[in-house]
Amino acid sequence: MHNINKAISSALVAAALLSALSGCAKKPEESAISESVASEAARIEQSVSQSVIETSAIPTLSNAEYEAAGINELNSVPILMYHRIYGMTNEETSYTGGNVDADGYNRTSEAFEADLRSFYEQGYRMMRLTDFVDGYIDVPFGYSPLIITFDDGIRDVVLEGWNDDGTPIFDPTCAIAILEKIKAEYPDYNVTATFFVNSGLFGNGEDDYKILEWMVDNGYDIGNHTRDHAKLGDCTAEEIEQQVGYIYKLLDGIIPGRYVDIVALPFGSPESMGPDTPQYNKIFEGTYDGFSYTSRASLLCGWTRAYSPFVRDYDRTCIRRIRAYDNNGTDWDIEDNFNQLNNGRRYISDGNPDTIVFPASDNSSGDWLKDTYDHQVIAY
Ligand SMILES: [Zn+2]
Repeated sequence: MHNINKAISSALVAAALLSALSGCAKKPEESAISESVASEAARIEQSVSQSVIETSAIPTLSNAEYEAAGINELNSVPILMYHRIYGMTNEETSYTGGNVDADGYNRTSEAFEADLRSFYEQGYRMMRLTDFVDGYIDVPFGYSPLIITFDDGIRDVVLEGWNDDGTPIFDPTCAIAILEKIKAEYPDYNVTATFFVNSGLFGNGEDDYKILEWMVDNGYDIGNHTRDHAKLGDCTAEEIEQQVGYIYKLLDGIIPGRYVDIVALPFGSPESMGPDTPQYNKIFEGTYDGFSYTSRASLLCGWTRAYSPFVRDYDRTCIRRIRAYDNNGTDWDIEDNFNQLNNGRRYISDGNPDTIVFPASDNSSGDWLKDTYDHQVIAY
């Protein structure tokens, strides 16, 4: 397993926050997004000569082989943002597709299961969010990474009882049960997900303590969604420490050292961070009730694919996600996002997590590849 650097010094956090100022957490307005897509396209269209940095440390393929498979590890990664999964068919809702509410934050179990099958068929394979943040992307050659997240905990893990061997019995229509079902069906899918919880965890009372242990034992991750689902953009520094620190301390008492130090920002707030808002540093470092914590990253609420962790515009303090909803293939719904990904914007792996492989023309500006995480770089 990849070695995760748990500790971030305050200096690094401060530096990263300062560097994050300009590009952080813009509102998901379509015009702004279209602009960024257009500039991305313009950048790709530039064809300037590119230097190839290559060593003989790792066996590599020929440029023709990379090109034939479309390998591109500077392209984008879908991080799906789910909330509640309800035990319903799509016909049982009055909303579009598999949406259970007007805004599509909640999804039917039928739609969720179909989503997972569809992503698999399109050549996506799951990976852990925490590995993504570490710049360690381990999916097979020619396949694309996919990251699943859940916010709020409600209806994600619905316990029905315990087997004699101590394993949990779940409502078959809840999120974890469907993930387990897909895991059994597709051994090469690497089924995993990160669940971001509030103080009520999954709503199963003290049973949740045992469930959390079972989840981390079975390849799932648990992250921080604040104590009270607080809008951190409206909080003081002390309130942020209470909201974020409470969850870390709670998780550390149940699954010590086995939760992920990543915050999913409720409501995607704050939308920007900078020197004029020093209180937001408390998302990334603080102390609550004698317990000191750090966060490696934070996630926005919606609306589109995440930048590769290797590129200039990636910002670990405001990682983008796709809102998992249906809107007839428009307005950044699942279909819209995957159409865009599959139309030349998706990260396609060379199968080696220790290399970064991409067409040289994609880094023609010379500064699009920014952080190599000490990997070998191969531009073809
Ligand atoms: Zn939430």
